[in-house]
Amino acid sequence: MCGIVGYVGDNQAAPLLLHGLSKLEYRGYDSAGIAVRNEATGDIRILKAKGRLHALSEKTDDGHAVTGTCGIGHTRWATHGEPSEVNAHPHCTDDKSVVLVHNGIIENYQELKEKLVREGYDFYSETDTEIATKLIDYYYKKTGDPLEALTRAMLRFRGSYAFGILFKDYPGKIFAARKDSPLIIGKNETGHFIASDVPAILDSVRNVYYIDNLEIAELTREKVHFYDIDRNEIKKEMVEIKWNEEAAEKGGYEHFMLKEIFEQPKAVRDTMNAYIKDEQIDFSAVGLTDEIIENLERVYIIACGSAYHVGMAAKYIIESMSNISVEVDLGSEFRYRDPKLAKNSIVIIISQSGETADSIAALRLSKEKGASVLGIVNVVGSSIA
Ligand code: GLU
Repeated sequence: MCGIVGYVGDNQAAPLLLHGLSKLEYRGYDSAGIAVRNEATGDIRILKAKGRLHALSEKTDDGHAVTGTCGIGHTRWATHGEPSEVNAHPHCTDDKSVVLVHNGIIENYQELKEKLVREGYDFYSETDTEIATKLIDYYYKKTGDPLEALTRAMLRFRGSYAFGILFKDYPGKIFAARKDSPLIIGKNETGHFIASDVPAILDSVRNVYYIDNLEIAELTREKVHFYDIDRNEIKKEMVEIKWNEEAAEKGGYEHFMLKEIFEQPKAVRDTMNAYIKDEQIDFSAVGLTDEIIENLERVYIIACGSAYHVGMAAKYIIESMSNISVEVDLGSEFRYRDPKLAKNSIVIIISQSGETADSIAALRLSKEKGASVLGIVNVVGSSIA
């Protein structure tokens, strides 16, 4: 999950979007993109670049080459589909009737995709986000009402999302909605902003609204309206941000480690959600069938650094919940001994970056020895993935 910024107001949007995204760079990301509506032509221009934000800034002359006062921007941390320009956000329908950025994961994207394919939709990317975009479009074409389309789609999404959305037929308007991914609305004398986190808009804004789960915001230059999932208008309190930039990056926590510790429950929940279907654990998507699990005799967890400590904690949990014994190895040790892997065993490699050299070597060695391997990483498209 990475960053979202949106703006509608008196000023040119693109430079503000790029500036806002640059304030979220510390969170890490693999690609970036913006969509800006040109009021004169009515066209929505979408520009994306893989890699650093700098590449997008160069493509757009720091945003000055893109005209328009209403737009949305995104930095992506890929969860579905490799980091690439095609998979980068914003995503859109062929006619650009819906253009969208998303943070989070739509868990039931496969089932929604099947429905949309039956309805005649094509897909150009590997992302869950494109499916979300097209489901909203499907309901929009059916009802002609963006708010109704959005709420109907939200009721069908399982997972987490913060969305920023442009509807082609609604110039000067941004829609935003969220569930389990953060999103705020900011206001200043020139217009309104959306952002996934305070630092993105702190240079322009001091007053914000926090949107809660399953709530929607509709922003124009002058006004912002809030709705619940039943499309009833709701009132929100404006909150004044008193943090400085440094405190805002840490979400008000004293330091980053504390912030990350408090984010752990959500990180764990998000990771597990992908493997729970109808309240049952289901690992079939990663090739682990019930049969394999039932026959498991030994689990080896291989990792380095703090991922190794995670493995040590996992050993206690797995052993207390099953009668399978677990061995935890440092990647750097495993590759230099001659490990004897038990039959019916699985090797779990844990690496945040997915690029830890010793862990990659251990993975190759395990495969050579015929073991099943499972990677747990935080970077889609990394070597271990
Ligand atoms: N799941 C989406 C994707 O893979 C959004 C990822 C994000 O939050 O940046 O494209």
